Amino acid sequence: MASLCSRGLRTHSSLLCPSSLFTTRNGVFFCTMQNTQTEKTKTRIGNTKTTQIKASTSTTQVRENEKMLNDYEAVIGIETHVQLSTLTKAFCSCPYNYGSQPNTTVCPICMGLPGALPIFNSKVIECAVKLGLALNCKLAMTSKFDRKQYFYPDLPKGYQISQFDIPIASDGYVDLDLPLEFGGGHRKFGITRVHMEEDAGKLMHSGTGTYSQVDLNRAGVPLLEIVSEPDMRTGIEAAEYAAEIQRLVRYLGVGNGNMQEGSLRCDVNVSVRPTGQTEYGTKVEIKNMNSFSAMHKAIDFEISRQVLLHNQGQADQIVQETRLWEEGAQKTATMRKKEGLADYRYFPEPDLPEVVLTEDYVESIRASLPELPEMKNRRFENMGLSVQDVLLLSNDTNVCNFFESAVDKGADVKMAANWIMGDIAAYLKNEKLSITEIKLTPQELAELISSIKGGIISGKIGKDILFEHIAKGGTVKAVIEEKDLVQAS
Ligand SMILES: [Zn+2]
Repeated sequence: MASLCSRGLRTHSSLLCPSSLFTTRNGVFFCTMQNTQTEKTKTRIGNTKTTQIKASTSTTQVRENEKMLNDYEAVIGIETHVQLSTLTKAFCSCPYNYGSQPNTTVCPICMGLPGALPIFNSKVIECAVKLGLALNCKLAMTSKFDRKQYFYPDLPKGYQISQFDIPIASDGYVDLDLPLEFGGGHRKFGITRVHMEEDAGKLMHSGTGTYSQVDLNRAGVPLLEIVSEPDMRTGIEAAEYAAEIQRLVRYLGVGNGNMQEGSLRCDVNVSVRPTGQTEYGTKVEIKNMNSFSAMHKAIDFEISRQVLLHNQGQADQIVQETRLWEEGAQKTATMRKKEGLADYRYFPEPDLPEVVLTEDYVESIRASLPELPEMKNRRFENMGLSVQDVLLLSNDTNVCNFFESAVDKGADVKMAANWIMGDIAAYLKNEKLSITEIKLTPQELAELISSIKGGIISGKIGKDILFEHIAKGGTVKAVIEEKDLVQAS
């Protein structure tokens, strides 16, 4: 079975046979095609790379599918909800800890009891300004909160406190590099707006489907909603955009960005149009993707579904609706049809004052921003690392810090990168550990690399010491002396 690396590529050869299996390693997607036939087909995808795949459809069919997809262009926009890791909720002093017993972190304010008044947590503004600056947005020096009114059992107040016509940040962009195996190159995606709002509670449905219960622990937890411009064209671009948002959130320390816990949630809008047409097609919203690979697969499936309908003269069957990604069946399915635009009857929140930023405040936050992924990538490149190495290292802040620390202690840049991304990464993956959980220190990695470079020990002995240190710790010097490992010259 051949493997297909697919970031930045059009992976439409799996048209309507979305049997691709994806795994993520250090933020890189690895995709393997499941096969039902033994025929090998060589397919050029996106004019960037030739990939060997065993097709599950015939050669002619693959060609026809490719041609059909090339006649259409997908337009993708993403709304991302980022849960903030503030100590307390947005408008009350309740904490929020994922996984707590239901309804144990609630108070009259977040339960929406009559007469309870919100008090704004200023930390939320700090997070919003940080993310707004990191996304190259213009900040609204004066913004406000609005009530977005709708009824749902997990929203006890009957409205959500959000921002409507004046979001705190708007008109920004993200810059990112696509790894070479996914076509490489640079992408810039626009950010329409970033606004502050509160999360709702959670409904828990009984197994029998006869009743539901509500947990209000999450009600009132601060969120930043990031709305992108419809700038993405493929599932991979969309997944890479979302991964970049996750990196930014983690670099800035405003949230944990964990998709499985729902701390980072993406709703994706997908439409297709004949290539060359400027008018947008009917957009369909996809929810329920809890990983970047699921997002990639869901979008590619949805693009194929819509293109096929166009091609069969059934474009009128593409309707405005919300579809869910079904991981088991590997397809999207209708969740609910949209009947006209919802009227939320927004009006300014009367219980909260305007949010006014001063130049000094914004500048102090700008000065406190850490080095962001894009800047880090450029700096690592200048250290002589390849784009591939750079992207793998900068994907995880802990790995990055370990690498930088080893280099600070004198480790050779390329060797440190190779060891961290090779043997150490493999060990971490096998043991399901983070780099902060191993016994090896950056100091000792530097020492080990210097010992090999200096010819004191061989590379093979170095590897043995490496694995011993990862598991047990200790100093390289002591091991070399104790076991008398010095290389005979
Ligand atoms: Zn509360």
